[in-house]
Amino acid sequence: MTERRPAALAYIGLGSNLDAPRDQLERALATLASLPLSECVACSSLYSSSPVGPQDQPDFINAVAAILTRLSPLALLDQLQALEQRHRRVRDRHWGPRTLDLDLLWYDGLSHHSPRLTLPHPEIFRRRFVLEPLAEIAPTLTLDGELPLTLADRLEDQTLSRLGE
Ligand code: AMP
Repeated sequence: MTERRPAALAYIGLGSNLDAPRDQLERALATLASLPLSECVACSSLYSSSPVGPQDQPDFINAVAAILTRLSPLALLDQLQALEQRHRRVRDRHWGPRTLDLDLLWYDGLSHHSPRLTLPHPEIFRRRFVLEPLAEIAPTLTLDGELPLTLADRLEDQTLSRLGE
């Protein structure tokens, strides 16, 4: 049965550093725009970031998208994980290279913790490659009372650059 729930705003983080990462992200963004019961309302620029964790891997391409969705948080996570699988993501090394990583960063201001899903995503506060693209499309969003750009400015040691068109 189709879920009937009010549309919620959600932010999704995307990252890739394997198999033509820019292409992976562009294809994933197109797919996000056509998720069931959802529409994409904003998309950040693409950014290049140095890997967190093991350094013997290529730089990542990152972006953040905003969607309006009638999917529940877990139904949305199911869709994101299915999309990762379609991009043939192989989970081998923790923080290792990946063709596509999708994180549900924030869903309608919900705080939630269960074995499969933590909201807001617990790593948001530690990742400049999430906070800067988020600041671009959601400059007034507050995370624990602080703006994404304020949080990003504290992570100056993490290398990030915005890519041109
Ligand atoms: P990762 O390898 O970093 O993509 O982590 C994937 C695992 O994190 C999966 O088992 C998810 O169920 C879990 N997870 C918990 N919270 C979230 C979230 N907010 N967004 C995406 N995955 C999440």
